[in-house]
Amino acid sequence: MTRERIAADRPRYSGQTIYRGLVPADRVPHLTADPRVRLWFGPDQHCVCYPVSSGRQISFGATVSSSHWREESWTAPGDHAELAAAYTGWHPDVTRLIAAADAVGRWALHDRDSLGRLSTGRVTVIGDAAHPMLPFQAQGANQAIEDAVVLASCLAGPGPDGLGAALRRYERIRLPRTTRIQQQSRANATTFHLADGAEQRRRDASAQATSGLDRHEWLFGYDAEQAATSSRS
Ligand SMILES: Cc1cc2nc3c(=O)[nH]c(=O)nc-3n(C[C@H](O)[C@H](O)[C@H](O)COP(=O)(O)OP(=O)(O)OC[C@H]3O[C@@H](n4cnc5c(N)ncnc54)[C@H](O)[C@@H]3O)c2cc1C
Repeated sequence: MTRERIAADRPRYSGQTIYRGLVPADRVPHLTADPRVRLWFGPDQHCVCYPVSSGRQISFGATVSSSHWREESWTAPGDHAELAAAYTGWHPDVTRLIAAADAVGRWALHDRDSLGRLSTGRVTVIGDAAHPMLPFQAQGANQAIEDAVVLASCLAGPGPDGLGAALRRYERIRLPRTTRIQQQSRANATTFHLADGAEQRRRDASAQATSGLDRHEWLFGYDAEQAATSSRS
């Protein structure tokens, strides 16, 4: 409702749905010996999994293109058999992971364009209200936390120009970064889902050449407190 004070947009269905499930770790020992985030890419869909609950469970998200599923619910059950059918022929690590789940949920993924501003008058937005994003970088919560850190810093020292100036500074610091991350999350839907071919081979070669956190320094190396402090000077 607060966002409506700032923008008159509506969520847009992305054409993608995501099945999510939790699997006890002892059912998938092939994925637990080396605890890390794993991604499998393929035409029109991808699967990601990672350990949660101190390694006791593996959480996974498996995307599937769909023209008919528009359910925005966080609790809608998914059809396990439909998910398994969608991943038939994929790497055995994926098919065994999906087979090991007792139940899955299903979300329709919606997107919105970036806002041109985050505030109006004395009202501002942070987190998903400001920049909802597709989950293809796992950044929604991170960006909400960064927003909070920067906003708190701006409000702690609003200066002689008052609240309006503080909110403009918050927007100036945050909007370029959250816009870039929204766009990159959207672009990942294309990159992750390439059909087999030259582009897909380039993507795979690039991923192999620079795996890990090193090529994401701009994303994971960001210091929100530092960003707020340096914008003052
Ligand atoms: C399954 C799943 C996995 C995810 N994984 C990741 C991940 O790995 N990494 C990551 O960074 N992000 C992840 N996200 C995204 C992340 O959860 C969201 O981006 C994040 O929660 C946004 O935080 P927020 O505070 O903006 O909104 P929310 O977490 O939605 O909080 C908004 C709160 O406001 C309350 N509220 C709403 N209306 C009112 C009202 N009128 N009055 C009072 N209270 C109200 C709501 O009940 C809610 O508690 C995931 C999301 C999902 C669904």
